[in-house]
Amino acid sequence: MNSVLDFLDFVSASPTAFHAAQQAAHRLEAAGFQRLDEHKAFELIPGGKYYLTRNRSAVLAFRLPKGALTHYQIVASHADSPCFKLKNTGESDAAGDCLRLNVEGYGGMIMSTWLDRPLSIAGRLLVRTPEGLASRLCDLDRDAVLIPNLPIHFNREVNKGYAFNAQVDMQPLCGGAGSRGLLLRELAESCGAAPEDVAGTDLFLYNRMPGTIWGAQDEFFSAPRIDDLQCAHASLLAFLSAPEPRGHADVYALFDNEEVGSGSKQGADSNLLSAALRRVSLAVGADPDAAIASSFMVSADNAHAVHPNHPEKYDDANRCRMNGGVVIKHNAAQKYTTDGASDAVFSEICRSAGVPVQHFFNRADVPGGSTLGHIANTHASMNSLDIGLAQLAMHSSYETAGTADPDFMIRALDAFYATDVQAEGDGDFRLA
Ligand SMILES: [Zn+2]
Repeated sequence: MNSVLDFLDFVSASPTAFHAAQQAAHRLEAAGFQRLDEHKAFELIPGGKYYLTRNRSAVLAFRLPKGALTHYQIVASHADSPCFKLKNTGESDAAGDCLRLNVEGYGGMIMSTWLDRPLSIAGRLLVRTPEGLASRLCDLDRDAVLIPNLPIHFNREVNKGYAFNAQVDMQPLCGGAGSRGLLLRELAESCGAAPEDVAGTDLFLYNRMPGTIWGAQDEFFSAPRIDDLQCAHASLLAFLSAPEPRGHADVYALFDNEEVGSGSKQGADSNLLSAALRRVSLAVGADPDAAIASSFMVSADNAHAVHPNHPEKYDDANRCRMNGGVVIKHNAAQKYTTDGASDAVFSEICRSAGVPVQHFFNRADVPGGSTLGHIANTHASMNSLDIGLAQLAMHSSYETAGTADPDFMIRALDAFYATDVQAEGDGDFRLA
């Protein structure tokens, strides 16, 4: 249960991907990881612990072996969640002496879950300073805006499959007519800047509802952004507690922009991972291509628990449940990277660690989702599989998961890092 409480703290300190990356960086720093600058040559020593950030919203951390580096064992997750992004600092007058913000959707959210609840604003400001332009994280950290529903009297269809329009229905109320500019001022002041010095913004709405543990026996917890901060957090705890690696280097990867297709410089569809693996290999005298080809990646992004009201949506024989252990995700079209080889390797590791695993397949008539593993694999190709923890209400602004599962994930990934997964020949493995 302690890991759930720690997760709820992590979520509330991580309203955006920028803040999640900052949280991860703080914990890495506290554990003695040394910050690398991607813009400079890497100077590394065997046995060293390093991390870097890109765009302040993605993180890569490495723990090098004391001896020769043979390969990398990577756990990758994502820091972003579906939400609404402000169009600059746009405010628009509305009827009734109200001021609205002007927002667009970020990712595939369940829109109705953003209505009629207190929201706040956080993100990153580019601030003019005497030295140049500085990136600063900001957060109002108070109930500041809200997206009101239309009364049912004017929208009789709302319970019969109403199609929400982001441009019309999802624009938040942020104050009275006389409040223009006040929230931007408050955001700037939250990071020690004057509003006139703000030169650029990346600002997002977020749900401020605190996480909670519930159920007859505290079986469940709910919080915003469980997808995918739950895997980001569990894999970070496993990475930080893993023993000194032998042969391989442990890698923690936290990407941004998974919810919008990963196609940014800080997303999985970039050279963030491949360039870093290459540079680390060269810095410690290893052959980068051989090291990457021998590597193993776990793409950790949450999975679907069978919904109690809609079991018909799930494959009869492969229903996953909350508190049932780590979910291994399969897809014949390779939207998930799991294959027989990577499934066998990871399942063996979990079996030895006494961690239960469940298998997720979509119904054959449902296309299902995608994640970052298969995208990252096109840049740094290696054996890999997709896993997650079973949750309900994925992409709601308030999601639900099982309280027993974080510890299963932490134990499984601890065992993954502690095991030297040696690729032998083509498709054979030795687990040492
Ligand atoms: Zn996800």
